[in-house]
Amino acid sequence: MDTMNELFYQDAYRTVFDSEVISCTKGKHGYEIVLKETSFYPEGGGQPGDQGTLNEVPVKDTRRKNGAIVHITDLPLETGTAVHGTIDWNRRFDLMQQHSGEHIFSGIVHQLFGYENIGFHLGEETITLDFSGPLTWEDLRTVETKANEILYRNEPIEISYPSPEELALLEYRSKKELEGLVRIVTVPGADVCACCGTHVHRTGEIGLIKVLSTASRKNGTRTEIVCGRRALRYVQTVTDQNLAISHLLSAPVSETSVAVERLRAEMLDSTYRLRGIILHQLEENLKDIEDHTPVYVLFTEGIDTQELRKYANQVIEEKHAGIAAIFTAGKEGMQYVILSSETDLKPLSRLLNERFSGRGGGSSQMIQGSLHGEPEEIRTVLQAYAEEKADH
Ligand SMILES: [Zn+2]
Repeated sequence: MDTMNELFYQDAYRTVFDSEVISCTKGKHGYEIVLKETSFYPEGGGQPGDQGTLNEVPVKDTRRKNGAIVHITDLPLETGTAVHGTIDWNRRFDLMQQHSGEHIFSGIVHQLFGYENIGFHLGEETITLDFSGPLTWEDLRTVETKANEILYRNEPIEISYPSPEELALLEYRSKKELEGLVRIVTVPGADVCACCGTHVHRTGEIGLIKVLSTASRKNGTRTEIVCGRRALRYVQTVTDQNLAISHLLSAPVSETSVAVERLRAEMLDSTYRLRGIILHQLEENLKDIEDHTPVYVLFTEGIDTQELRKYANQVIEEKHAGIAAIFTAGKEGMQYVILSSETDLKPLSRLLNERFSGRGGGSSQMIQGSLHGEPEEIRTVLQAYAEEKADH
């Protein structure tokens, strides 16, 4: 590892530097600029490449290509140009917070459970980690608590390059077989790991490590964490959400889930009772329907299609109606069931689909589906259809 011209290895906090363009070629993603020396960290070890500017030219990404560090830009810079480089420090420091926090978290999982980190993705929003064994939410909570204790102790994060002999005796985590000089990153009490990324000087700079989620995977556990400013933003967002729920339900902030549970139970109960009332009304209504009504149309709400069909059946069988059409207001327009004892309903189904942007179908004696329309208009169409059929 040639650290002489890789300024980020001498000082991960260096944000500006002066250098010279060695080459500038057109690549797949833009111009690829190589400098004599640079503070721009190239994507590697799970850490994304830096962004920033070279003079006024924005650097979109930084990568390692055939051993050289290439700065990817949309504009060229001539070979020999003297450049003043500035890295996007907010972004880099965020990545350093995430990356350093990940070391501590994975190190403690290894310490407590003996699992390896078998997947690491430092995304725009969160860090996704895959561990080689099962971890419960409580396990992760224990790891989170221990990891944050390491932050309170404000431990130094040490970088070393042990000799092959020293390395042979050292126990450290490593994602792949390493060759040549190995860079060891040590967080006292938490982790020893081979890594080429940039890290904060002391653990206190990470601020907060927060576990967000867990899911079991075929060969272990996938978990999401956030560190530093991201963790603060997360806590702020979740706190706002919880406060809003707390106000809406007049519940203490620590009891919002209990309040939601209660609300849900009340809602189910109300729905159930409302259905009972509607079904009772329909029963009463049935008594008033005249025998042999040619077309009976009813608009109701709060019942499902099974009940619609049952009621339509009763109208046909008990009242000998020609056509029974029952509608109920739903989430997506109106649901309906239409039954007939003798009239062919298939053309009616097509007519309703056309006239009322409906979706439905069925047999000549029963059609069902959904549509959008005004009750009076629908009623008129149904009556006209029944009359037309009766004339034939
Ligand atoms: Zn690292």
